[in-house]
Amino acid sequence: MDLDSTKKFCSFCGDPGRHETPLFGGLGAFICGPCVQHFHETVLGERLPKAPPWEAMSDAEVLGQLWAIAQTGFQAEDFLAEWVALARSRGGSWTAVAQALGIPRQDALDRFS
Ligand SMILES: [Zn+2]
Repeated sequence: MDLDSTKKFCSFCGDPGRHETPLFGGLGAFICGPCVQHFHETVLGERLPKAPPWEAMSDAEVLGQLWAIAQTGFQAEDFLAEWVALARSRGGSWTAVAQALGIPRQDALDRFS
């Protein structure tokens, strides 16, 4: 698995990871330091959300977000493929992988082999 966060994107704001500002990861999602700070302040009540951020965006800004959202989707898909490969490398059968994913065995084979 590739743990280099400079090849990943923050799943919340779309910013790319950098050596000086690494991303922190979980199950296919990553978060940058500014987003951690933002959500920390929100949880503590220091910054209460007034409205969804897209309500203040222009149409061009909404369109500008599509690339970043797509990247986080691709990133999660890559992460899933890496974990399927890990399960397979440990001897997990395609049947077991398919059952874990809740999809037919043939779909798992078509998607990940
Ligand atoms: Zn972020």
